[in-house]
Amino acid sequence: MKKYFILTMGCQMNEYDSLRIAAIFDKMGFCRTEDMDEGDYLIVNTCSVREKPQHKADSSIGRFKKIKKQRPDVKIGFCGCVAQQEGANILKSFRYVDFVVGTDGLDRLEEVIACVENGQRVCDTDVNEGALSIGGFKRNVSVSSFVTIMKGCDNFCSYCIVPYVRGREKSRTVTEVLDEIKYLADNGAREVTLLGQNVNSFGKGLADSGRISFAELINRVSEVDGIRRVRFVTSHPKDFSDDLIAVMRDNKKVCEYLHLPLQAGSDSVLKAMNRKYTYASYLEKVMKAKEAVKGLALSSDFIVGFPDESDDDFECTMNALREIEYETIFAFAYSVRPGTKAADYADNVPDEVKKMRLARVLDLQKQIMAKKSKEYEGQIVEVMVEGRGKKDGGQFSGRNRQNKVVNFTSKKHIDIGDFAKVLITHARPNSLLGKSADGE
Ligand code: SF4
Repeated sequence: MKKYFILTMGCQMNEYDSLRIAAIFDKMGFCRTEDMDEGDYLIVNTCSVREKPQHKADSSIGRFKKIKKQRPDVKIGFCGCVAQQEGANILKSFRYVDFVVGTDGLDRLEEVIACVENGQRVCDTDVNEGALSIGGFKRNVSVSSFVTIMKGCDNFCSYCIVPYVRGREKSRTVTEVLDEIKYLADNGAREVTLLGQNVNSFGKGLADSGRISFAELINRVSEVDGIRRVRFVTSHPKDFSDDLIAVMRDNKKVCEYLHLPLQAGSDSVLKAMNRKYTYASYLEKVMKAKEAVKGLALSSDFIVGFPDESDDDFECTMNALREIEYETIFAFAYSVRPGTKAADYADNVPDEVKKMRLARVLDLQKQIMAKKSKEYEGQIVEVMVEGRGKKDGGQFSGRNRQNKVVNFTSKKHIDIGDFAKVLITHARPNSLLGKSADGE
């Protein structure tokens, strides 16, 4: 039986797309391997949002090339955002690559593989306009599973390549989303995370008769038998609505976790980023959400060293961190993404300043995280069990509703996917330690 190996870069959307790639190969009779040296098909699912994943993709393809030198029958495929962006140039530049499939081409992957099996080199970066149909696919199910509900983005933040490589916003139909979630629940999923670059825009592109708001979709998802937790990512702050706050407050299956990327604390930087909100309007929404949803944990993305970011601008970001006190942040030094609007701006913050600012942000966040984690000590939290310790049967791990990793002990029998009440005895910055509060 031929084997395939997939290397996934970047975000959860790519992880989801890799599940789709795997399902297509499985359907064609291949079997998956986690060892690239064993693969007959080596596929890299690329990300071009930041410089680093793109470099990683380039270096993996170098490793694939070495394997192909030893085993010339090996086929090499390039999928994802870099594939979409570079298209046929990849086939021209890398003679050993056999196929390039863009972000909209996965539903045609089977035909592409059939051509590759016949010795052809193929590039498919066609873009589908209109509604997004992924169709039903037999996928790997875990107790906590991702489900793409929409893709693409219409926001054109000046630094971001997503609208160019993932295209305009497209939503899956409500029926398709719910069918997939029923399938997941029937096969053991207890928590679903609804994925999209801008989930608040869910419904765009769907016929009027089949359109519902994102808030309504969450309610429908939470009614699926077996689903006990619903999460979502990512919300754009400008579209984050009172409706969504109300659902988070009233629907007890919606976890108290909100990823709302601020990116920068300075209004002039936000304007140059084309984010379409001010820090004050962002803060107002966040405060409203915190007030309405008890125990809400916030997370955010930040870019430091954006073109023209002054010391004062940067201090606004530091102040935002102090004022909002996120549980988690994802912070990066700005890097130019060719093809974006910001690529025309002078990248005029020196690298050493970017590095220093990033270090200050991460250092401050470390202190905030330590303080926020400490607040859990002595609390009893709900944990969905996702793993067991290898040595001792009494060790378990999972996440609480705020998405914090919890490691705990229990003398009771607990299965993966079970829910446990855990008393937090010790807080670490990135995880919590505790013991079962369900009578040992
Ligand atoms: S909202 Fe902005 S940062 Fe997010 S995917 Fe769209 S363009 Fe990129």
